[in-house]
Amino acid sequence: SKQVYTFGGGANHDDPRTRDKTIVGGKGANLAEMAGIGLPVPPGFTITTEECVAYLASGADFSAELRGEVATALTHIEAAVGKRFGNAADPLLVSVRSGARVSMPGMMDTVLNLGLNDATVEGLAKTSGDDRFAWDSYRRFIQMYSDVVLGIAHHLFEDALETVKEDNGFYTDVEMEADHWRALVAEYKDIVAKELGRPFPQDVNEQLWGAIQAVFDSWDSDRAKVYRRLNDIPGDWGTAVNVQAMVFGNMGDTSATGVAFTRDPATGERAYYGEWLVNAQGEDVVAGIRTPQYLTRDAREKANAKPLSMEEAMPEAYGELARVFDLLELHYKDMQDIEFTVERGKLWMLQTRSGKRTAKAALRMAVEMVGEGLIDEATAVRRIDPMALDQLLHPTLDPQAPRDVLGKGLPASPGAASGAIVLDADTAEHRAELGEAVILVRVETSPEDIHGMHAAKGVLTARGGMTSHAAVVARGMGRPCVSGASSISIDMASRTLKIGQRSLKEGDVITLDGATGDIMAGQVPTIEPELVGDFGTLMAWADQHRRMKVRANAETPNDCRMARQFGAEGVGLCRTEHMFFDAGRISAVRQMILAEDEAGRRAALDKLLPEQRADFRAIFEVMAGLPVTIRLLDPPLHEFLPHGDAEFAELSETIGIGVETLKRRAGELHEFNPMLGHRGCRLGITFPEIYEMQARAIFEAACDVAAASGEAVVPEVMIPLVATKRELEILRALVDRTAAKVFEEKGATLEYLVGTMIELPRAALMAGEIAEEARFFSFGTNDLTQTTLGVSRDDAARFLSPYVEQGIYPRDPFVSLDIEGVGQLVSLAAERGRATRPDIKLGICGEHGGDPASIAFCEAQKLDYVSASPYRVPIARLAAAQAAL
Ligand code: PEP
Ligand code: MG
Repeated sequence: SKQVYTFGGGANHDDPRTRDKTIVGGKGANLAEMAGIGLPVPPGFTITTEECVAYLASGADFSAELRGEVATALTHIEAAVGKRFGNAADPLLVSVRSGARVSMPGMMDTVLNLGLNDATVEGLAKTSGDDRFAWDSYRRFIQMYSDVVLGIAHHLFEDALETVKEDNGFYTDVEMEADHWRALVAEYKDIVAKELGRPFPQDVNEQLWGAIQAVFDSWDSDRAKVYRRLNDIPGDWGTAVNVQAMVFGNMGDTSATGVAFTRDPATGERAYYGEWLVNAQGEDVVAGIRTPQYLTRDAREKANAKPLSMEEAMPEAYGELARVFDLLELHYKDMQDIEFTVERGKLWMLQTRSGKRTAKAALRMAVEMVGEGLIDEATAVRRIDPMALDQLLHPTLDPQAPRDVLGKGLPASPGAASGAIVLDADTAEHRAELGEAVILVRVETSPEDIHGMHAAKGVLTARGGMTSHAAVVARGMGRPCVSGASSISIDMASRTLKIGQRSLKEGDVITLDGATGDIMAGQVPTIEPELVGDFGTLMAWADQHRRMKVRANAETPNDCRMARQFGAEGVGLCRTEHMFFDAGRISAVRQMILAEDEAGRRAALDKLLPEQRADFRAIFEVMAGLPVTIRLLDPPLHEFLPHGDAEFAELSETIGIGVETLKRRAGELHEFNPMLGHRGCRLGITFPEIYEMQARAIFEAACDVAAASGEAVVPEVMIPLVATKRELEILRALVDRTAAKVFEEKGATLEYLVGTMIELPRAALMAGEIAEEARFFSFGTNDLTQTTLGVSRDDAARFLSPYVEQGIYPRDPFVSLDIEGVGQLVSLAAERGRATRPDIKLGICGEHGGDPASIAFCEAQKLDYVSASPYRVPIARLAAAQAAL
C-alpha cells in the first residue's frame, strides 16, 4: 500500500490511513486532520512509520517505490506553494521532522530550511527582499543539518558564531547584519569540509534524503531508546517523517513563532497559555536561547513583564489564533498543545496534539470539560492516566513552614522536592543510585540529560521558559521543575553556583516549589495531600463505573487509616510477620524460633499473644466492619535469627539460654534456599502452635471489637504458600478448632472465612481441589511470578532490565503481570476454583494489584477485588473503573 501521504494545499484526506497515528504518526495525523477542517496548514507529506520499520529492518535501504512516491508528493507541495524545490530563482524550502505514534519531546530530530544552497540562498534573498533573513536561514540550515544529519559537533558552529560576535562587539544575534551572516556561512562550510572531508551537500535532493535517513535513524538513537524504556514505548513502532513547506517566523517584525496550550498545562485553568517570539524560528522558543514573551495580556500583566504580549503586539494574528484554539478544542474535545508561525502577518499551524499536563491539571480539565458539556463523565474517567495520580498522593510543602528563599524561577512543573544539588545528569544518576535525594541543576537541559532528570527528585534550570525541554520533560515525568531562574550562575570548573547573592556548592541541600517557582535553602517540611476538589469528583465518577472492589495491603493501624482515606474498601493483605519485627517483640520471636521443643515455643508464644491481639484489635477498629484478610506467618524463620555476636549475647541475656546453644540452633535452622524452604504454611504444619496463637489473637480481637462497637467483624484468615489440599485441610481444622475454643470462652460467636493464597503453580493447577477447603483465594502474584518464571524476586533487578530491553518480557514481570504466562495460571485457578465453589471470593494481593495493566486483566477474569499498597489505592480505583468501562 501507499507509504507517502500528502496533506494541506488541497490534498485529499479521505483515506483513513492519513489520520491513523499508527501509520503516519501523531504529528502527521494531526496535520492532516487540521488541514481537513480547514485550518491553515503549510502543505506537505508524511512518510509512514511502516516505511521506517522496513528501512531499519532492511539495513538502511530506501526502495525505488519510495523514491518515486516522495518525488510525486514533492510536486504536490510545489504546485500548492508555487515554488520549485532547488529552483535558484524562487526556491521551495521544507522542514523535515520526525513524528512517532506518541510524542517523544526532544527525542527525535528536526531539520529546518532544507533546500538552501549557494544558489538558492540568492533566490531567497531576492524573493523575500531580505538579505539578512536569507543568509541567517542558510547558516541555521547548515548548522542544524550538520548536527542532525552529518553528525558534526554543534559547538564548533556555536564557537564560530561567538567569535564573529566578539570580533564585532555584538551581544546578541539581533545585531548581526546580512554580511556577518554571509561571512559566517563561509566559515560554516569550511568547518563542514574540514570535519567531513567533503563539502556541504549542495544537491537539494541529497539534502532531503539525508534528512529522511537521519529521522529514521534517530528512532534507534540512545536517547530515543532511553525515552522509550522510561515510557514503555515499544521499539517496533518506528517513526514517520513529515516534510512540509517552510513558513518563516523570522521574516521581520510582522513575523513570529510560538507554542501554546489551549489551557494551562500546569494548573488546568481555562486560559490560553503560551509563549512566542517576534522575528524568530521555532527552535528559538523551545531551546531557551531567547527568553520568550507572554501570549496574552493577562499573563503578561500577572507576571509584571515589560515586552508586549502577542495579544497586544499582533492583535489580528492573535485573534485568528484564539479562533483556531477554540475550533481545535471543539474538534478534539481535549486540551491542545500547538506550534504556530506568523509569516508577515499570516498565521500558520505547524502542529497540534493533545497536550501533556500535570495530574492536577488533568483532573481540573477533565472535570471542567464535563461541566462545559465537552465530554461526558465516562470520557473524563478514561482520560486520566491512573499512574499520574501518584503525583497528587504525595506530600506537598507545608505552607506554614518558614522558607529561606534563595531565588525564583518559572513554576514549570508543580510539586515539592528537596535534595542535594548535582550539576550534571551522570552525577545525578550515580548519587540517586546510592540512595541520595538529588536536585539536578543545569543552565538548561537537553535530551542527553534525561536519565539524570529521571533519577532526580526535581529539576532546576537557569534558562528556558515554560515550554523548554526541562519543563516539558519534567511535567511528563511528574518531576517538580523550576525553569528559567535567571539569578543562577553555575561554575562547572569549581562545581559551585550562585543563586542571587548566595554561594552554594554541589551537595548542598535545596528545596524547589514547582507550583510557585521558589528555590529555598535546606529542606522545607511537607504535609499530606488533601484528596478533595477535582480529585474527589473524578474519583466519585470512577467509583460509579467500577465493578471490582479495591482493598489495601496494610499491616499497621496507620496504614489502614491512610488506606481508608484513599478509599480502600477493606484490607486484602495484612502481613503479620511485620508485627514480629517490632523492637519490643523480636526477642520473644527469636526465643520461639530457637526453642528446642514445643514447650519452649509455647512459652515464647504466650508472650506474643497479647501483643498480636492488640495489633488486630487496632486494625479491626480502624476498619470498622470492612473485610480484613489476615495472613498467618509466612517468611522463612531464618529471617528472624539474630545476626552477629552482639545480638546473640543480648538474646542469651534476655532469655537465659547460653550463646553456644543459641548458635547451634541457629546453625540448624540455616537454609540454602529459604524462599523455597521452611516458610509459609509449612511453618503451620511443623509448628502448629504458631498459627494457633495467631488464630487465637485474631478471634479474641474480633470478638472484643465486635462486642465493643456492636459492628460485625468478619475476619478472613489466609494461609500462605499452600500447594496441596491436604495442607489447607489440616490448617483450616486448626483454625476452626481455635475459633470454636475462643467463641466458647467468650460466649460469643462471629462469622469468619478461611482461605488461601494461590502463589505456587501447583496450587493454581489444583485449585479445583483446594477450593473444597477454601472460602476464598487471593492470588499472591509476587511469589506466583517468582515460582512460575523461576526468577528470584529478590535478585531479579540485576538482570531483568536487559531482559526488558531485548523484549524478552515486555515489562518487568514483577511490576506488570506476565499475562501471557502467569496470567494463564490465574485464569485457570479462577475457573477451577469457581467450578468447585461457585461463590468463592477471588482477589489479588501481589504488587500487581496496583498496576493498571494487571488490574485490567483482573477485571477480565472477573475477580472480586484487587488489593494494593495504600498509596496505590486511588490508582487502583481509577484503573478498575477504566477496565470496567
Ligand atoms: C505474594 O507473594 O504475591 C504476596 C502478596 O505475598 P508476599 O509478597 O508477602 O510474599
Ligand atoms: Mg507471597
